[in-house]
Amino acid sequence: MSSVDIKNLVNGEWKGSANSFQSTNPADCTDVIGNSPLTSAEEVNEAVEAAKKAFESWKELSWVNRAEIVDNFSQLLKRDLDKLSTLVTRECGKPLNEGKADVVEALHMAQYVAGLGRMPTGFTISSEVPEKDAYILRKPKGVIACITPWNFPVAIPLWVALPSVLAGNTVVLKPSEETPVCGYRLAELFHEAGFPPGVINVIHGNGELTGDTLVKHPDVAAVLFTGSKAVGNYIQQVASKEAHKFVVTEMGGKNACIILDDANMDIAVNAALLSGFKTSGQRCVTSGRLIVDKKIEPEFTKRLTELVKKIKVGNGMKDGVFMGPLINKEGVAKWKHHREMAIKEGAEVLVDGCELTDGEYANGNFVSPFLYRFPYRPNTFCLREEAFSPHVAIIPVDGMEEAVKVYNDTEYGLSMAVITEDYRKWRWVRDHADFGLGYVNLPSIGAEVHLPFGGVKSSGNGHPGAEGIIESVTHRVAFTVNHAEEIVMAQGLTTNVD
Ligand code: NAD
Repeated sequence: MSSVDIKNLVNGEWKGSANSFQSTNPADCTDVIGNSPLTSAEEVNEAVEAAKKAFESWKELSWVNRAEIVDNFSQLLKRDLDKLSTLVTRECGKPLNEGKADVVEALHMAQYVAGLGRMPTGFTISSEVPEKDAYILRKPKGVIACITPWNFPVAIPLWVALPSVLAGNTVVLKPSEETPVCGYRLAELFHEAGFPPGVINVIHGNGELTGDTLVKHPDVAAVLFTGSKAVGNYIQQVASKEAHKFVVTEMGGKNACIILDDANMDIAVNAALLSGFKTSGQRCVTSGRLIVDKKIEPEFTKRLTELVKKIKVGNGMKDGVFMGPLINKEGVAKWKHHREMAIKEGAEVLVDGCELTDGEYANGNFVSPFLYRFPYRPNTFCLREEAFSPHVAIIPVDGMEEAVKVYNDTEYGLSMAVITEDYRKWRWVRDHADFGLGYVNLPSIGAEVHLPFGGVKSSGNGHPGAEGIIESVTHRVAFTVNHAEEIVMAQGLTTNVD
């Protein structure tokens, strides 16, 4: 298979770096996909400098002018959809249908952002004084640093970068070091679409050096971070030292499906399967907990266990594979730790997972699904910490109120699905559970770009992505115009001096 010599895109030019790292296929680590620059602190500074310079002219264009370039980009993305989908599977391991879903979601974001260019960007508001008009306008913030994770390597960079540039900001994007080739292909499309030099810069590297230098740069006005809670918390603390720096953190979850006693069992079982095991449990919205009413739990457990035993694990390029590999060896070690902790804490194992190392699995990061039953206890590691892997607990509960109490017993609050036929019950759950994304009779996964995407509590700092991001990358300014021939003030203030 081919290997790509990746470059950074800085000020419209392709640049290498003295140091580099490899990107390999998590299904077969002998398959080298690309060789990527490990961007130094000095090179990060150059990228921010380029973005700062480009901001001066980019912000002068209208939203419609900028949207036209986003539209060019969206057409190129559509042209390359199949090629990119295969690359997503090769570089991050998801089965092909999921690789494609990632690129389709990216395309939807590009189309949505192109359309937003012709939507209102502010509004007129009445004044106390009839001769005055007041406006609320959106102004760009400046240079935006986008730091993105590996698990949606095409969609998430676009979720944050495209609204930023539409609003007149310029961007320095650092994609995950696990998926630099996907980031590089996006950079090629930004270049081909005609974004002027410096408007979108894409630099590659790890978190400790490249990411850290970027978020600490004084000329960065806002950081849009998506990733783990540990790194998000760190970035928020670092940025709090600079009053001007705005930070959006979209982080992890310990999400759940709540399955009530009147649930449609087919929906319940399928929603649980998708929520727990799609993307091998490596979604921020994965449900590591299935909170099930005791009355139906035995039947639910029996049916889900049968289904989970049938899950085919393998290289995502192959037909019929439901779960691809984990992204890296650290992911495997984390999954093992969570499995051991669950057993130590008293899990009743229903489907025991293991690391798969023979035959077709020999060169990849494969594990099989782990499903267990765990009567609720507060303060357990396994029910509270994000495993980010196929590690799913069935928790029997006594009724809706206990279900929600158990659901809320984590630091997180990202995604929640409730399975019930009773509109009064889902309404009560909606109003008492802590989440940013709620679903009824659906899995806890499955975002759409024209909805806000984010969590509460430790899952996010209240600035949702997707539809919500324009709010974070613009300042809302008030602008008041007097049409009278004298100064007339609000609150009855006069200009009299005597
Ligand atoms: P991660 O936190 O390890 O890395 C995310 C990004 O942060 C990477 O680009 C990394 O290089 C960078 N980074 C790491 N240390 C840094 C530092 N000190 N300074 C600046 N940047 C740094 O996360 P990951 O393993 O790529 O992704 C998995 C995590 O992301 C999970 O916790 C998952 O739940 C979460 N996630 C959240 C969402 C959401 O929208 N809420 C979406 C996808 C993934």
